[in-house]
Amino acid sequence: MRINNNYSKLKGNYLFATVGAKVSEFTKNNPTKPIINMGIGDVTKPLCEAVVKNLNVAVDEMSKEETFKGYGPYRGYSFLINPIIELYKKRNITLDESEIFISDGAKSDCANILNIFATNQKVLIPDPVYPAYMDTNVMYGNNIIFADATMENEFLPAPKKDVEADLIYICSPNNPTGATYNKTQLEQWVSYAIEKDAIILFDAAYKDFIEDENLPKSIFEIKDAKKCAIEICSFSKSAAFTGTRCGYTIIPSELVKEKNKIKDLWLRHQTSAFNGVSYIVQKGAQAVFSEEGQKQIKKTLNFYKENAKLMCEALDSMNAFYTGGKNSPYIWFKCFNSLSSWEFFDVLLNDLQIVGTPGEGFGKNGENFFRLTAFGTKENTKKAMELLKSNF
Ligand code: PLP
Repeated sequence: MRINNNYSKLKGNYLFATVGAKVSEFTKNNPTKPIINMGIGDVTKPLCEAVVKNLNVAVDEMSKEETFKGYGPYRGYSFLINPIIELYKKRNITLDESEIFISDGAKSDCANILNIFATNQKVLIPDPVYPAYMDTNVMYGNNIIFADATMENEFLPAPKKDVEADLIYICSPNNPTGATYNKTQLEQWVSYAIEKDAIILFDAAYKDFIEDENLPKSIFEIKDAKKCAIEICSFSKSAAFTGTRCGYTIIPSELVKEKNKIKDLWLRHQTSAFNGVSYIVQKGAQAVFSEEGQKQIKKTLNFYKENAKLMCEALDSMNAFYTGGKNSPYIWFKCFNSLSSWEFFDVLLNDLQIVGTPGEGFGKNGENFFRLTAFGTKENTKKAMELLKSNF
């Protein structure tokens, strides 16, 4: 018996553990000083009324023999897939039911999709990055290459012709940098992927934060993307499903490698290795697309966007370099006074009682950068920005 030795190559998940330990230590020593938490990567507003109403109806249905549901369809229920098709139609993207797979969220699909590809492949991952892409590729024994996101490219790396890749992760709007690719930039990635015969895994978990109508919310707004991309979406951040769990993945019929339709391989994977999302949760997610559901989730999204705007205004007034905030709940800025990201973390915690996330924890290019999120209260966001302005 041998274990997967790749697990020994994983780096410990020190980032949030270290942040947590430092905050606990501070509150223990300073019990009267309240902390403003701007490190939250989770939503703070609850599920909207329309979703809760549908969830309750579905629970009731499960209690009666006539309406009880057992195992569901492998790809998910049509009542949820069809509104997704309609949503994409509004952006001139035509999808077929067979191309949509309801999931329990973006993280699982970002990881499990690797099961249908050979291991030992070259995987291009941005640095800094959402840590799950890195960890899961280490587990699978893939060869990781980094696409450097830096101040020079405004944290939006472009493809390099001399770099070979088989799989490419793109996250736009990005976690942690909030940076969002425009159409021309995504066109470059699509033509690069086609030239290298690679597949793009496009993580669109934050697409509903995009305000600017000129920015693509889907990779499939780009010509020929259906030949080279998979899009992974989530209800987590747009509709408060972080604890309820639901998302969807789109694999176009045109995506074919070695004569295999990738969507068929994924269906084969899901039928054998995924239990699907419960009927109750899918009914809840269906309500996100109703007229009242849309109105209600937009209200919450606007609340976070207002916070992000306050943060942008503060950083603008300080002439700080930052990305995000405009189409994203994350703001990523250069630490003041040339501090390293952990030094800046300590100063914010000890002197101002503001908690954020040191950029270095997301990759080497995150050194000297810092992430704040818009998921806090308005009052705290305002207070934190006033403190930043008066101290730096
Ligand atoms: N992708 C990115 C870039 C994220 O930041 C997150 C969560 O923070 C996820 C995916 C996970 O999404 P889900 O809750 O749908 O699994």
